[in-house]
Amino acid sequence: MNRLEGNVALITGGGRGIGAAVAVRLAEEGADVVLTYENSADRAAGVVEHIKAGGRRAVALRADSANPAALTAAVDEAAALFGRLDILVNNAGVFPVGPLEEVELAELDRTLAVNVRAPFLASQAAVRHMGRGGRIISIGSNIAQRAVFPEMALYSMSKSALTGMTKGLARELGPRGITVNLVHPGPTNTDANPSTGPHAQAIAGLTAVGRYAEPHEIAATIAHLASPDAQYTTGTSLHVDGGFTA
Ligand code: NDP
Repeated sequence: MNRLEGNVALITGGGRGIGAAVAVRLAEEGADVVLTYENSADRAAGVVEHIKAGGRRAVALRADSANPAALTAAVDEAAALFGRLDILVNNAGVFPVGPLEEVELAELDRTLAVNVRAPFLASQAAVRHMGRGGRIISIGSNIAQRAVFPEMALYSMSKSALTGMTKGLARELGPRGITVNLVHPGPTNTDANPSTGPHAQAIAGLTAVGRYAEPHEIAATIAHLASPDAQYTTGTSLHVDGGFTA
């Protein structure tokens, strides 16, 4: 399918995990892709090579999402490199876990900077480049809806903030033809949450389908939301969680 032919997409944290799968899928659907990374330069380069081998343009930019100047510069550079910006996927995220009393101020600030402030700032920078048909898609979490495990209040708080941002931006940007949506993955087999991890079997058991997702299964929904097929879908939160929150 070439639903995204002629579009330019920016994916934060696109060097590995869900972000890499999104970058590859959007390119397969015809988009040129810019992805950001913080530490995974080699893996980001690998994703870029893979996309280029498929015939699309791709670039990886180092940009720490916690650094507002670096993040907004990456958004502007993405638009400058390929002449436009149609799709922003706010994917980069951190996953703090620990007892309430042990959460340090630096970790609290860093989590809010990466998981909340960055999606807001990237969206703010992106809409300066977007025209009608623009797409902002953020990655939340099933844990924002169902806080089934202890010691995840900070993560859950950070991801649930995206619900308000998504609704508010959908309202504001709807008249400009830009849609804004939120995807809540369930347990997905990545470095952050490997399906072979010590608690994986118990986690998989909390889904209706009894297994982890692979990153490409999350990417498929993001490709739909990015496409013209989803032009009447905005302000919504979509759970791609195997029934974890059912
Ligand atoms: P991974 O830990 O596997 O990958 C995290 C990605 O985010 C990496 O590409 C990493 O880049 C990037 N990243 C982290 N911090 C920064 C930063 N400060 N600046 C730029 N990039 C950064 O995570 P997943 O792929 O599993 O998660 C992707 C998203 O999906 C996250 O928002 C996560 O919260 C969410 N999610 C994941 C679930 C799961 O089960 N896997 C479930 C629900 C939600 P680099 O390697 O370059 O540092």
